[in-house]
Amino acid sequence: MESLFGDAYAPQDSKSNLYADIIMPVPIPKMFTYKIPRNFADEIGIGYRVIVQFGLKKVLTGIIAKVHQKAPKEYEAKPILDVLDTFATVNPLQIKFWVWMAEYYCCHIGEVMNAALPSGLKLSSQSKIQLNPSYDSDQSPYPLDAREEIILQALASKKELSYEECEDLLGIKSIQGIIKSLIIKEAILVFEKVMEKYSPKVESRIRLCPPYFSDIKALESLFKELANKPKQEEILLKYLQEIPIYQKPELNIKGLDKKVFTDAGMTGSSIKTLIKNGVLEEYKIIISRFEEMNATEEKIILSTEQDEALQQIKTQFEEKNTLLLHGITGSGKTEIYIQLINEALDSGSQVLLLLPEIALTTHMVSRLRKVFGSKMGVYHSKYSDNERVEVWNGVLSGKFSFVIGVRSSIFLPFDSLGLVIVDEEHESSYKQYDPAPRFQARDAVLMLAWLHQAKTILGSATPSFESYYNSRTKKYGYVFLDKRYGGASLPHYQLSDILVDKKKNLLKLDFTRLMREKIQETLNKQEQVLIFQNRRGYAPYIACDDCGWIPECEHCDVSLTYHQFGEEMRCHYCGFKEKVPRVCPACGSGKLGAVGLGTERIEESLSLLFPEARVARMDLDTTRSKYGYQRLLEEFGAGNIDILVGTQMITKGLDFEKVTLVGILDADRILFFPDFRAGERAFQQITQVAGRAGRREKQGTVIIQTRKPDQAIFGQVISGDYKNFYLQEMAERQRFFYPPFVKIIKISTRHKDYKTAEKAARHLHNLMGDIQVKKILLGPEKGLVGKIKNQYIYESFAKLDKSGNAQAYFKHELQGLLMEMQAHKDFRGTRFVVDVDPY
Ligand code: ADP
Ligand code: ZN
Ligand code: ZN
Repeated sequence: MESLFGDAYAPQDSKSNLYADIIMPVPIPKMFTYKIPRNFADEIGIGYRVIVQFGLKKVLTGIIAKVHQKAPKEYEAKPILDVLDTFATVNPLQIKFWVWMAEYYCCHIGEVMNAALPSGLKLSSQSKIQLNPSYDSDQSPYPLDAREEIILQALASKKELSYEECEDLLGIKSIQGIIKSLIIKEAILVFEKVMEKYSPKVESRIRLCPPYFSDIKALESLFKELANKPKQEEILLKYLQEIPIYQKPELNIKGLDKKVFTDAGMTGSSIKTLIKNGVLEEYKIIISRFEEMNATEEKIILSTEQDEALQQIKTQFEEKNTLLLHGITGSGKTEIYIQLINEALDSGSQVLLLLPEIALTTHMVSRLRKVFGSKMGVYHSKYSDNERVEVWNGVLSGKFSFVIGVRSSIFLPFDSLGLVIVDEEHESSYKQYDPAPRFQARDAVLMLAWLHQAKTILGSATPSFESYYNSRTKKYGYVFLDKRYGGASLPHYQLSDILVDKKKNLLKLDFTRLMREKIQETLNKQEQVLIFQNRRGYAPYIACDDCGWIPECEHCDVSLTYHQFGEEMRCHYCGFKEKVPRVCPACGSGKLGAVGLGTERIEESLSLLFPEARVARMDLDTTRSKYGYQRLLEEFGAGNIDILVGTQMITKGLDFEKVTLVGILDADRILFFPDFRAGERAFQQITQVAGRAGRREKQGTVIIQTRKPDQAIFGQVISGDYKNFYLQEMAERQRFFYPPFVKIIKISTRHKDYKTAEKAARHLHNLMGDIQVKKILLGPEKGLVGKIKNQYIYESFAKLDKSGNAQAYFKHELQGLLMEMQAHKDFRGTRFVVDVDPY
């Protein structure tokens, strides 16, 4: 799409002017009001993409959020320059959702829009020049220099040039001066050309020209003419064989891909001749980037347990809008989802199924594809812009009534959601950390569901404490599935004490004797091994080699992080710090050391310990490419890998028959991560990774290496006693004021100079102290990662009362303070980042 904006500036009648509030893709906390030109008034409405001038020079695409008759008071409204759509790209429910999100997560609505729209739907504009039609070089009083002449000559033949093209033409770096001069000399005009980034996928087809497809006589005489041109005749015969127009002349309209002929060994030149002679014609059609696929699966028969769970869900939905489906690993939650999705689709509603990033590339998609075929859209972050736009448009047009996708799929243009499912709802990848909006999709989607009056299922084998809490307080419904499908048994756990082995000299390359023996046994049986190591290696901690003691903060119930610089340990919540003690306060031993182990080193160690085994590693580094993850899984599934070492990635949705041993190398690292959720995460991760073992007939084994085998959590993980673990952790959370008992807002202050960063952070912290709500303020303290991209980071945490409007009031005041800080001359160049529910 393109347009020249001359006519939009036509004068308007001031009486019955219409105005539009427009969401602009800029980090400014409000919408902007523009005038709707008369000629657009009938073809414009909420959700249309429009082009407007922003500031003096910029031309931007915005979206209309509201149409009204109130002229803005503070400024004169500029007119909308152009309308891009003939239908709304975004619906009113989405705009409500964006407004809510900006408010709740303390960001700008333009930032929400930026996150919501696939970049293929955003437009870019480019400055171009053209000849001034009234320019006459012979009459002009201003002579042109040689370079200006070159530009004008090029314009005479090419009509328009971008600035870059001009620069290339002259071989210079900046064209600005010359363009200015040409404008003054009235030789050229500058205009903005707007470009649609999305481009549909186009395929060339050929088909019979009239009259041949409808007039059999004409066709017969054509064959006579081609009697001594066998190559052309062959093409025609092939065409008729593929498209039997004798029976169905209307089929001709679909035509054929040229490849049908070339694949059959016929020549392109004969096709060309037929086209030239008016027998065939070539034309283009727009095709989908997604293959058409039919559903192939017959009806699923649910087990008794599954069917009972399904009935309970339906009954509870009569009263509750949200429900937690707590089903152990392998209990067959997917099959229950399928039933519910089918029923929702049959009733004419749309369905959204959210999955964590990585689960989307596994069995789940192919599993659901078999049931739902092409009416299921997939929205993945590794998709290209064009593919994302096609999913977006597919939802708009009704082609995709069911979408499975990652967290950003909550922004798709649904207009009648009936059911939302969040699978693996405890997963931390539902949280977007950067950039704004810093939202938690599991929470945000509840607002979306509410706007649609849709039902929501949160599914997990290890629910987040928030969801479990909400189900215990009856805010959510709750259904529990405690049996694996098909009677497969849960794995058998064994704890292996790192310190005991170390003392006896049995620890080899970080593997205990028990772990090594079990791996060898599994390899001997030609079965497979998964070795899990937590990814969060960047937070090293201190541990005692003799008793396993790990230092914790006295005030915050989190472990202290080791900082090599200054040999100190710090709490990254409250700033409490201590020198690393010389002897262990628990046992008096002098063997205190920093702990940290990467997956790469583990892979090497395994290759040394088991030279005959085929070892592979799955982490962020080895799966960066689009298909990296899938390829590793295929290799593993095909039995070409014996031992797979991996991070959290291997915990998700893997369902391989031959995995019978799962090893967790350092459970302490998960447990003592400096975060109040460490216990919850540890329970979830250990249970999930253990759930990969022995999913069919054979029972699996899980070996957990730890320095402190006597911790209560291990007993609870092993017996699957989620509830007691939860109750115990909740008591702690209540005592130390953590969610779900309070709301946490994290405020980071960043500056390239650490003194300024610290000063600004303190200043802001003091100002926040004056906000009149019940709260606890912690910090400011150096961030867990103290410096990112050369910006020093200080963090403050506000813990807020959940009842009443304390939260909303605090956020509102905070926005004001941030504006004040931004304008403060001492803090120039400081960035502030607000993260609501930062964990
Ligand atoms: P979950 O997601 O709860 O961990 P899955 O949905 O992956 O469990 O189910 C575990 C295994 O059992 C899968 O291989 C699945 O295909 C199989 N399964 C579950 N329910 C059924 C059913 N009703 N009929 C046939 N196979 C089933
Ligand atoms: Zn000790
Ligand atoms: Zn602390």
